[in-house]
Amino acid sequence: MMRFALLLGRPLATLLIVASLRSPAASLASAQQSAAPVELAPVLFDAPIATLTDSGWATVVQATAPEILRARNGLGDEFEVSHIGIIGPSAGQGEWRPRATDQHRQLLPAGTRVWLEAQEGLANPRDRLALRHVFREDDRSEPVGAALLRAGSVWVFPHAMHAFVSLYADRQAEAVISQAGAWGETNSSAIFRPRGASFGGFPIAPRVQPALEALDKPDVGNELLKRANAFPVEVGVARLPPGAVGAFAPRFYSIQLSLAIMDAPPESIAAVLIHEMTHANQMIEQGVSGEDLGCYDLEIQAFEASAVYWFGIYGRGGKARPTHWLDRELNETLQEYNNHQITRRVRQAYGHECGAA
Ligand SMILES: [Zn+2]
Repeated sequence: MMRFALLLGRPLATLLIVASLRSPAASLASAQQSAAPVELAPVLFDAPIATLTDSGWATVVQATAPEILRARNGLGDEFEVSHIGIIGPSAGQGEWRPRATDQHRQLLPAGTRVWLEAQEGLANPRDRLALRHVFREDDRSEPVGAALLRAGSVWVFPHAMHAFVSLYADRQAEAVISQAGAWGETNSSAIFRPRGASFGGFPIAPRVQPALEALDKPDVGNELLKRANAFPVEVGVARLPPGAVGAFAPRFYSIQLSLAIMDAPPESIAAVLIHEMTHANQMIEQGVSGEDLGCYDLEIQAFEASAVYWFGIYGRGGKARPTHWLDRELNETLQEYNNHQITRRVRQAYGHECGAA
């Protein structure tokens, strides 16, 4: 599921690297009280120092990946920082990764002072790597992740619910619409925003729009889409292995529908889409709650979502006059659901993926 590319870089913003961040208000107040001249020499000892556990100031040593940088704190301790809520191209994605890393370096050059904001309950993904919102000292209005999203060098990723979810979804949507950076090299060129959503929207290949509209029509589909829209997942079309009608790639945070089903009616494609969208939503839920459903349960839930959607449109018997082979498959899934056989089917069909149980 190739997904990304990058940007050749936008003009470097002028950087103001201020040596000290002692609270100016406090200095001024105490200066006025004592009527002594204001002393603005660098005083760093009382500024919070970023650590692997706490928010604070640090200096960028170097951006090492599209969403990861090395930082050094005032004690000389160096560690890695990954931006909360975004991820960039993997090593298997060719030129996209080095280009995205360059983009990161342009926005956060070595020596930049940054505020690293920890989020309550969000654990470090691995030893010596902290998940943080990264703010530049000269721009505390929004995290650098927003600019990376707007540049099209990274995409949203559901590490956890956070304060910049709608901002990030909007920046990503802007990048898709303007085909910024990597988006210009993908088939995702439009945005689908579910009914009632006031921000964001899913990056889509235009040909999947009718299926999204069909999914968005009933409340069951609309509710799922609105939940997933907090972290808008890409929805595209790809040539998938025989037998696969859709796929969800967690690392790329991308749903791909099989080219082989694109001639089916939009409602039938939507029934496949709801299965994959359920997997995206499971990933979001896991980020929010930390709860990890087992492999079989994830599949059972996805098949059930598909059956419930199909039931909602065509009733208990399914589509009376199937017009596509996919309709017959969906009728069969609904039949299994009616007969409480989804679990058995999943255990048979996913033994390989889920391991012996
Ligand atoms: Zn599945």
